Amino acid sequence: MFPRPRVLLCNVLCCFGSLPASAQATHYAVKLTPDLDRRVLRGEERIEFTAGAGVTQWQKKEGLRVSEAKVSNGDVAVGEGSVRVRVASDGEHVLQFKYEAAAEQGLRWFAGPTPSPENPDQAGFFTAFYCDAWMVCDTSPAQRATLRLEIVIPEQKRSPQNLRAVGPGKRGKEWRGKDGYHFVFQQTEPVQTYLFSFGVARIDVADDESFSFYAADLKSQKGVFQKTADAFAFLRAKATVDLLDSGYAEAFLPVGHAGFGQEAAGMTLMSEEYVPELTEKDDVQLMTHELAHQWWGVLVGIRSWSDFWLNEGFAEFMSDAYIEKHQGQAAYENQIEELKGRMQKLREAGKDRPLHWEQWKDAHEALGEIPYVKGALFLDRLRADLGEEKFWRGIGLYTSRNARKLVDSRDFQRAMEEASAQDLHQLFEEAVFH
Ligand SMILES: [Zn+2]
Repeated sequence: MFPRPRVLLCNVLCCFGSLPASAQATHYAVKLTPDLDRRVLRGEERIEFTAGAGVTQWQKKEGLRVSEAKVSNGDVAVGEGSVRVRVASDGEHVLQFKYEAAAEQGLRWFAGPTPSPENPDQAGFFTAFYCDAWMVCDTSPAQRATLRLEIVIPEQKRSPQNLRAVGPGKRGKEWRGKDGYHFVFQQTEPVQTYLFSFGVARIDVADDESFSFYAADLKSQKGVFQKTADAFAFLRAKATVDLLDSGYAEAFLPVGHAGFGQEAAGMTLMSEEYVPELTEKDDVQLMTHELAHQWWGVLVGIRSWSDFWLNEGFAEFMSDAYIEKHQGQAAYENQIEELKGRMQKLREAGKDRPLHWEQWKDAHEALGEIPYVKGALFLDRLRADLGEEKFWRGIGLYTSRNARKLVDSRDFQRAMEEASAQDLHQLFEEAVFH
């Protein structure tokens, strides 16, 4: 089904005998054209990076088949799960690819039969977390880069509503060309590549002053904007610092179940099933959790997956703190009790582990429930120990001081110690590191 790659294939260090050196990607430019009938994405990519002379390694999933690869002043070897690049000199380099990406972990076409005139609403797909499913990239959280993402959706003849793309960063130009509808997204400040997620679906977009709302049906836009604005004001006050870009988009896609949420830079993908839960049942947790990641995840990034709890424990706890403000203290306490119950089950199942956890081999292993549940419970405990004033002063200090930086658990400890004027070494040793 795929054209035979014209570049060298090797799985091991067969041709490049040295260990990978570290490269720093500075900018990714990716143009994707979905083939809606075959359900693959055709990609053209350009990576600007700096590296010393030697071999560097990049990630891609097996479903991404490279047909052309070249680097300035060097050689490229494409393997099943990675790409090795050898450059002959120190400095700035350009790496270019052409490829096709099929469904993989991180790239999912919406369920249902292949689109047809009878099933037009099934068309589209979304990507989540694993950018190596649809582009060659360096997925390490220590790496941050800017992105220009262009998506070209071929013209469809008999659809009642056209497909639209939603992506990270600022929404750029849109135009109709000979090859289809072009959508451009620009992330102009460097972010980690897991924040590059995007989606294509039969959706429309509505904007107010600060937010954008993407959904198949925009009739609930007022409710979504109001709920988002209220949670945004709460989180901004606690964080004490502005986001990278002032805009924020929420996209509701036909994922198939209400619990899906994926944060990206300046944007969140959720499922359309969640809209009535949010607007009619006032279930604000998922919306707030994902919005909180714009500070704890996007603005303040983790240096390594070992401290994933600084993303997920924070987002979970902040959503509970907002629930307290929005629905009262009893609602907050319910949330904490539920977390305690989940933690008990995790302990009984032998799944407990330190919050700062270095035993993972890839990002997937660092996920799981512990960073969320144990992380949020630790923040609740810290809040009770330090008291309201010192605790929130510490959260504000940690967030504002580390904006646009990479952090680990020690950075959080230092900020909380400084804000509370207390030595928290013992507490962090017990609760975070062991
Ligand atoms: Zn999260």
